Amino acid sequence: MNRSKDRIVYSTGQGRICPECGNPSDRCTCKQTRAQPASDGIVRVSRETKGRKGKGVTLIQGLEMDAVSLAQMGKKLKAMCGSGGTVKEGIMEIQGDHRDRVVEYLKELGLTVKKAGG
Ligand SMILES: [Zn+2]
Repeated sequence: MNRSKDRIVYSTGQGRICPECGNPSDRCTCKQTRAQPASDGIVRVSRETKGRKGKGVTLIQGLEMDAVSLAQMGKKLKAMCGSGGTVKEGIMEIQGDHRDRVVEYLKELGLTVKKAGG
């Protein structure tokens, strides 16, 4: 009677496989590469003028993506706004007030976006 044995082998096999990275759950890399756990999944676009010259900067906070994707999006946004900018600790900063354009772009990507501050 080795039918039950087969079943055991099958069920204990490799354990659970993560559907996102395809690794066994104990070697899952998703959580490590993800940016800080985002609070509520809402991306907030605000303007910061304090201590800045001219129009200030556009801040984009709450993006749930890894550092590489964030950098790529930063590049696109900078090109789109024709401005410089940085990405620091998951927060994107674009020089100048480009909130409307940024909000439009993020919405097109299917993200929930809120325009904050003034
Ligand atoms: Zn994974």
